[in-house]
Amino acid sequence: MMERDDRFSKENLRRLVEGTLHWEEVKKAIRLSPKDNDRFWKYLEVLQEKVPWNDKILLRISDHLYIVAKEGGGRVTKCDCGHEFGDYRTNWKLGCQVYVRKTDEEIGEVITIPEARHNTDLVEMREFYCPGCYALLGVEVVPAGYPPMFEMLPDLDAF
Ligand SMILES: [Zn+2]
Repeated sequence: MMERDDRFSKENLRRLVEGTLHWEEVKKAIRLSPKDNDRFWKYLEVLQEKVPWNDKILLRISDHLYIVAKEGGGRVTKCDCGHEFGDYRTNWKLGCQVYVRKTDEEIGEVITIPEARHNTDLVEMREFYCPGCYALLGVEVVPAGYPPMFEMLPDLDAF
């Protein structure tokens, strides 16, 4: 941990900030006070230490998914298991194994959107699993046939 601290140049930090400013948590951290900056870097370090790979984490999308900087350039969406979903600007859901639930019985107690209960022929619940580790990465309830929603496209190049 200390080693990583030492290797972080200001330029590296600046790039990290630029790459992650649109993340609500980051914005808050940076606006609140300079002290919180440090907290954020520590937070990234903690995340980094938890994953088994070395690609630099720029952003955490969910429990398992990160946007990372590849050594050879490029930013990809990556699962903590190491599976990569390709360029972060493409919808990672397209690279998932998808399980679609349609019947009321299957939906069970999971659904919280009231309309879904009454229109199970119109809506479907999709579960997106990582092909690498089979972690559940996301769930969406959408009209049948609707394209997979792309929930977040962080503007990493805004700055
Ligand atoms: Zn995975």
